[in-house]
Amino acid sequence: MEIVVDGHTGLVVSDFNAWWGKVVAVEEPFWQLPRAKNISPGKLYQAACREAEKQAKERALVFQYQSKERLKKELDKVSGYYTQMSREIKNKLKTTEEKDKRERLAKKLAAVEAERQRREKDALERYAIEIALHLDHIVDYSLPRLHVKLEVQHKKQLLNTTVLYNLLAHHLEAPVCPLCGHPSKCLLPDDQKNRFICPRH
Ligand SMILES: [Zn+2]
Repeated sequence: MEIVVDGHTGLVVSDFNAWWGKVVAVEEPFWQLPRAKNISPGKLYQAACREAEKQAKERALVFQYQSKERLKKELDKVSGYYTQMSREIKNKLKTTEEKDKRERLAKKLAAVEAERQRREKDALERYAIEIALHLDHIVDYSLPRLHVKLEVQHKKQLLNTTVLYNLLAHHLEAPVCPLCGHPSKCLLPDDQKNRFICPRH
């Protein structure tokens, strides 16, 4: 899987490939512009890991859903078989008076229960999904973006933010909500504090 994290904002860029594919990339930038401040590689790595884990779990859920029916059938089969065996032994126990025989039957019943648990655990383990993630490689993309300082006022509330205009993708990147960190094209004044937040809250 490929995860793209914005080095300046630290946010995951999910639509990167959609427009990057239309761009002719060069090894060295042909523009001479000041470099925007980047967040630390450690933080970028953490953001990428969080996204990779999220995506891997989503994929695992799909597999799990697909195999759910088969696992259920297998567990039903195991349960049916051992319930029948246990019932037979219990019935024998009811009618047996002899001490030695009763002990033998009790031992057999315990063994059947243990065997059932082992078979169930075995089935669950066979259908369990294990995810292993490791970093394959890193690509550092540089692209020109215009930083637009934006000042928005609503009554006495003021918002000073920077929106980024992506020249290659030809789109304006939405400002980030200070509460949840998600980019939002709509920001509403927060009655509690002097700030603007996205409509999710
Ligand atoms: Zn928000």
